[in-house]
Amino acid sequence: SKRKGTGEVSLFRQDFADAVSKRVKLEEQLRNAIKQNEFELYLQPQVNVESKPTGAEALIRWRQSDGRFVSPADFIPLAEETGLIVPLGYWITERACQILQQWQQNPDKAKMQLSINVSAKQFQQPEFVEQVQLLVEKYKIQPHRLKLELTESLLMDDISSVTNKIKRLKRLGIEFALDDFGTGYSSLSYLMQIPFDTLKIDVSFVRNMLDSREKAQIVHTIIQLGESLKLNIVAEGVETEEQFNYLTRLNCDTFQGYLFSKPVPESEFLADKTAP
Ligand code: C2E
Ligand code: CA
Ligand code: CA
Ligand code: CA
Repeated sequence: SKRKGTGEVSLFRQDFADAVSKRVKLEEQLRNAIKQNEFELYLQPQVNVESKPTGAEALIRWRQSDGRFVSPADFIPLAEETGLIVPLGYWITERACQILQQWQQNPDKAKMQLSINVSAKQFQQPEFVEQVQLLVEKYKIQPHRLKLELTESLLMDDISSVTNKIKRLKRLGIEFALDDFGTGYSSLSYLMQIPFDTLKIDVSFVRNMLDSREKAQIVHTIIQLGESLKLNIVAEGVETEEQFNYLTRLNCDTFQGYLFSKPVPESEFLADKTAP
């Protein structure tokens, strides 16, 4: 054992106490942030094989009153544990519908899709389907412009209730993407029962893709699987021309990553930079 003396044990306890108080503080700040609306949706373009944007993924950003950004990787898990993801998720969905309404007035953006990340807790809410339907009606958006990104772990919660909700939303015209594909533990037979439109290859596969034949083969296999299920395939985390070229050769449809653009505020998304 590494912890021999009592001194080390109490040091461990102190670390634990620090971690708890840090968490309590962050939770308090998160509650306030929801009240004060310190959030913004950033948009990251998704492009086709010709590098032309076909839509975007909305990624939440929390900028605290002192200007400091807190990463979603730090606060989304806390928001999920505390249930704060429910009001926050509703805000994200409404904001996305507002953006889509604006896009509809703009010939350059009218045909684009906007994807949002939906957390398990949010999706589990009994009123989730009705809420989305009401927002689509309120902002008069074309339902197929809105895409909901779900992770494999969300699907495992209660497969029949989840499938039922997905089917109800699909009947309204809403589209679905399976996010972070390959990082979860769900069985393929489950996944195939769910009528997804899009499969997103996780950044972890794309990052190492060109390191070895084996790693490239995994990406190839994922793309072939998606093709056989007639899904649109999005590669996440594309950072280099080499990755883009290789994925294009494998028949990947859509690409997202720093090579094309980082996530940007809505006001900067495909903004004409030559305009005053
Ligand atoms: P995700 O849904 O897998 O989102 C992709 C993440 O990869 C984003 O991190 C994005 O900024 C980052 N990324 C984009 N291009 C590249 C690239 O070329 N290279 C690398 N290394 N990374 C790239 P971000 O914005 O920090 O979000 C992290 C995670 O937090 C997301 O992973 C998602 O799980 C969660 N999240 C973000 N926004 C929301 C939201 O609005 N709602 C919910 N429920 N979760 C969100
Ligand atoms: Ca996502
Ligand atoms: Ca991912
Ligand atoms: Ca294809």
